Amino acid sequence: MKKKIAIIGAGIAGLTLGNLIKKNSDHEFMLYEKEESLSLDEGYGIQLSINSLKILNIIGFNKIDNGKIYHPTGVDFFNIQNKKICELNLEQFNTAENKYTTLKRSTLIEFLKDDVYTQHLRFGKKIKEVSELKGKVLIKFDDNTNDLVDLVVGADGIFSNTRSFFEKKKNEPKFKKAIAVRTILKSKSELKIDEKKISLMMGKNCHVVIYPVNKNKEFNLICIIRDKKYDPDNVRLLINKVTKQNSDFEKVFKNDLKSWPLYFTPKIFPSTNSKVFYIGDAFNGFLPTLAQGAGQSIESAYELFNLIKEDKKDIQNVYYQERLKRAVIVRRRSNINFFAFHISSPILQVIRNFFIKFLVKRKNFINSYLGTVYKY
Ligand SMILES: Cc1cc2nc3c(=O)[nH]c(=O)nc-3n(C[C@H](O)[C@H](O)[C@H](O)COP(=O)(O)OP(=O)(O)OC[C@H]3O[C@@H](n4cnc5c(N)ncnc54)[C@H](O)[C@@H]3O)c2cc1C
Repeated sequence: MKKKIAIIGAGIAGLTLGNLIKKNSDHEFMLYEKEESLSLDEGYGIQLSINSLKILNIIGFNKIDNGKIYHPTGVDFFNIQNKKICELNLEQFNTAENKYTTLKRSTLIEFLKDDVYTQHLRFGKKIKEVSELKGKVLIKFDDNTNDLVDLVVGADGIFSNTRSFFEKKKNEPKFKKAIAVRTILKSKSELKIDEKKISLMMGKNCHVVIYPVNKNKEFNLICIIRDKKYDPDNVRLLINKVTKQNSDFEKVFKNDLKSWPLYFTPKIFPSTNSKVFYIGDAFNGFLPTLAQGAGQSIESAYELFNLIKEDKKDIQNVYYQERLKRAVIVRRRSNINFFAFHISSPILQVIRNFFIKFLVKRKNFINSYLGTVYKY
């Protein structure tokens, strides 16, 4: 039966769901975004493993301009002094159609917005009130417009406001006592890195990830630094924690820096309303240390889309159970990586490096640690 769906939030999750509905079903939908436009500034880089590529290709991502994306061949592990520890081949997970991809977030959003922008996207929309009416959900927005829909999808990020209208128990995101600092590099600077790969440099209470985001020799640099509180005016001071360990980073951090505190969702709660679903970070926000936030947003949109399309019974329960299973796997690995990437004791660092070197060569381990996440 044809359904009317309201998607709250036009980030990666909401836009992916919109595209899937538009291109592969007859359901009606509208995306409601609280901002006045989509954030298309340069943004940070995004890594997409093949689990998300498989889904994006269903909505035509394979036709994207190849110059705007990159397929890194592997991950090089370094210590923060830029001394190589070992490498992981990423191509082992690729198939002819689906390859590990890096790109700017703005490139992905541009692609996702194209087919939904004019007819299916409304800006400046914040929910004011919700109620049930004749088996449907009536949403009132604060600009005095409203919509009567069969289903509501909360895709409004880790601090989901949609949850506060429908749930008693809210997901309370927690500050991880870590800050992310980002910049785009126009060259690899003094750093001894392979431009075709993702470089991961692990230091005391910090790690740096650098990877190409297109064929234009632009690199995304993201640095995660542990710190008890976030003060946006103090980012330069924070950076000293990294430059003290390797002065080659001084040049790198001269560029324009953006920073934000890292939050994660400690507990995942189901929706208590059979007509309301959560996807992307609104379902669960992950630490960025497995680079799966966008991938899981895309996956969750796809899972929900399939259940709605097939008009399955008990969608709510099936969706939650399946999503929970995936989220737990990804969360566990993101947490392990977060711990391993920030070890401060020099002795423990030596032990960690030994283990990474040992494990990246073990096919069985790599297949169960990364393969289960990537081969979706
Ligand atoms: C440092 C860092 C690095 C990362 N690197 C990667 C990576 O390499 N690979 C990867 O896969 N992921 C990465 N991620 C995570 C990824 O970016 C996010 O998980 C993903 O963007 C979440 O998408 P989303 O659509 O659920 O939420 P969001 O992107 O947060 O979008 C939510 C949208 O909803 C709108 N909104 C909010 N409130 C309301 C409201 N009340 N009403 C209407 N609209 C509303 C917002 O304006 C926004 O447009 C990283 C994250 C961080 C912090």
